[in-house]
Amino acid sequence: MTGRPLITDAQNTWCPGCGNFTIQHTLKAILSDMELQGKSLDNVVLVTGIGCHAKMADYLNINSFYAIHGRAVPVATGIKLANKGLTVICCVGDGDTYAEGLDHLIFAAKRNIDITVIVHNNRVYGLTTGQYTPTSPLGFKGRSTPTGTPEFPLNPLELMLASGATYLARGYTKKMDQLKQLISGGIDHKGFACIDVLQICATFFNIADFYNTRVYDLPSGDKSDFLSACEKAREWDYNSESNIALGLFYQRSFPTFEDRVISEKAKTPDRNAAIMEFLKAQQ
Ligand code: SF4
Repeated sequence: MTGRPLITDAQNTWCPGCGNFTIQHTLKAILSDMELQGKSLDNVVLVTGIGCHAKMADYLNINSFYAIHGRAVPVATGIKLANKGLTVICCVGDGDTYAEGLDHLIFAAKRNIDITVIVHNNRVYGLTTGQYTPTSPLGFKGRSTPTGTPEFPLNPLELMLASGATYLARGYTKKMDQLKQLISGGIDHKGFACIDVLQICATFFNIADFYNTRVYDLPSGDKSDFLSACEKAREWDYNSESNIALGLFYQRSFPTFEDRVISEKAKTPDRNAAIMEFLKAQQ
């Protein structure tokens, strides 16, 4: 089906000023471009986890699967293995995928399954009214940590590089054009793509002023140098006051999980034929 409205008429309950709107409209623009290029949106599947971000499944008018908490990535992996012709996009949250579903994320990167994971990283559990997540800064005061969290945050970019992600980028919801380029690049990339998006939570952790004075764009050019990607990923550790790089950190070509699984399967003898042969030999 083409030419359909891409935003559904479901009642939108995101707070005014929420960065989720930027990601929604960025995805809408990307989907429109795909249609203009003659690609059928019937071949696109959106998978979401649980959290404010997950309402994307209700608000975008494409095939979608509302998974359980932290489980969007394994669902997306299953969908891609079942039909590798599909474009599979995951919208996940930082609490959702860097906590509950972290092992799935690491293994998806390790396998290089060809899916695109967009992390709505607002660094707080917004849907449950403001608890700290793995990327909240040290001392973050929320519902579960009224005197401040004593934990240092996780650096998800460093973790994704170590896990084997073949496309890694960081975007920001106040920079929509760049975000569109980064997500489109991730969708076009053949392999596991992770785009960590600094998403403003207008209600429980609005740090737009902090980001606005620190973000800068990475230069374009060759992105296949793993060590310089690691160095850039470490420049800001999600806790310090240093500058924050935005853009594509790393990209390389590598065989995908689904291609390897399918070619291995082709080498496996047909199980039923092998059983029939065995039974015949017993007669
Ligand atoms: Fe957005 Fe935060 Fe409101 Fe959730 S709680 S809808 S993330 S502003």
